[in-house]
Amino acid sequence: VCAFEPKAKVSDACASYADLDTLNGKLQPYVRNLASNTDFFSYYRLNLYDKGCPFWNDDEGLCGNIACAVTTLENEEDIPAIWRAEELSKLEGPKAQHPGRKQQKERQRPLLDQLGKGVGESCVVEYDDECDDRDYCVPDDESASAKGDYVSLVNNPERFTGYAGEAAHRIWEAIYRENCFSKPVSGDGSVTVSRLSAPAPPGFQNQAQAALDFKQVMRNHDRKEAMKLGVPDEALEFEDECLEKRVFYRVISGMHAAISTHLCHDYLNQTTGEWGPNLQCYKDRLHDRPERISNLYFNYAFLLRAVGKLRDYVQDYTFCTGDPVQDKQTKEMITRLSAVIPSGPQIFDESVMFQDDALSSNIEGLSLKEDFRNRFRNVSRIMDCVGCDKCRLWGKVQTNGFGTALKVLFEIGNGDEGEEKVVLRRTEMVALINTLDKVSTALKALEDFRIMIAAEIDGK
Ligand code: FAD
Repeated sequence: VCAFEPKAKVSDACASYADLDTLNGKLQPYVRNLASNTDFFSYYRLNLYDKGCPFWNDDEGLCGNIACAVTTLENEEDIPAIWRAEELSKLEGPKAQHPGRKQQKERQRPLLDQLGKGVGESCVVEYDDECDDRDYCVPDDESASAKGDYVSLVNNPERFTGYAGEAAHRIWEAIYRENCFSKPVSGDGSVTVSRLSAPAPPGFQNQAQAALDFKQVMRNHDRKEAMKLGVPDEALEFEDECLEKRVFYRVISGMHAAISTHLCHDYLNQTTGEWGPNLQCYKDRLHDRPERISNLYFNYAFLLRAVGKLRDYVQDYTFCTGDPVQDKQTKEMITRLSAVIPSGPQIFDESVMFQDDALSSNIEGLSLKEDFRNRFRNVSRIMDCVGCDKCRLWGKVQTNGFGTALKVLFEIGNGDEGEEKVVLRRTEMVALINTLDKVSTALKALEDFRIMIAAEIDGK
């Protein structure tokens, strides 16, 4: 197996594409079934509406430039409701109000008594607002006063919403900016921009301006400077960049690629009003960007490794939904899934990461792992700035899913004696499985697009 080693640079020629496609063909039905046919994994609790953007004023997301005026709400009123971004972004299906703590405790007691157990880990839904030092995400119910709603993930599929333009770009920019780790004092973490690989990238007025600004970047060898100038990461090549930063970038870029795949595959044809794949959308965003596709596969390998590692962990996990028969089935289903995932580091070897962690720290005195964790938490906070309900929902689910995978890979030990036990909240388990489901269906969607491309070539 050509493993997706975290050490590997973006490699689009890796034979493991085919290996992972084969594996996905085998695993996808299990993952789909788990995500869509069990109550435990198809409802997600989150605070979708009350948090607000902690980084900038939401209103600033509106573009004041006259050229942007076509996208204002007034103009949206003029188009049929089904085509409006606002309509497309709406959540569907029943949305349960979050019960108060007292109510939840009352609800749980009979079930816990019935199970004859103490407080089962995953049953303590109402306590999932406590933050743990080892979390890579900010729990949505962080503060005791925060409200949460249950949302059906099945009724709200991730698809084209029409959310785009300045506001969406701002979010992605802010997310990629989190990849600018400060230079470690020791270790091999220096970030050196070695060359600009693309002609005038978006954000530059023209090629001359790009060349001028890039000279500055080269002088400083500074990724931060490049970001300030609006040079997208993928237009830069890096030398001697530390492995952990590369992994951070690939996780984000792969998540972005999965979102793009879903929206292109479930796109609204505004002429016919029908939903379906949009080949041009795929070509623009993915087909000609092998590094994005590579990062999507990377994420699949990464998530599979995390879910595979849960094999023993889930044996003691209580999947309580109030229906003991279904809970038993849920446990059997996740056990079967984790058993089919190859064990060992063939798919993704996380043991090479954070090796020198105790030895190196950055100028703020943070170890690389702490820095990595804080930055990932910031990405999860940025999700509250997303101005479309459905995108925010899936953005939050997926950052929590990747955050949980990081926690599983880097914080859950091997169950050695004296080792402190890491507890996964219900929302973390749900997010992890649904994120794997998203990436797994994205890989299937890529297969569809490849067939469409081949048919197009044959037809010419
Ligand atoms: P964008 O996708 O906005 O990309 C911005 C820039 O990032 C590009 O110009 C490119 O330089 C760079 N880039 C693009 N892809 C990658 C990659 N994979 N790796 C590295 N760099 C990259 N829209 C929907 O229709 N449905 C959704 O469910 C949805 N969910 C979203 C969730 C979040 C969290 C966010 C921030 C946005 C979401 N959007 C969604 C909007 C969508 O992602 C795009 O922003 C929008 O479609 C506009 O696309 P674009 O072609 O302008 O480029």
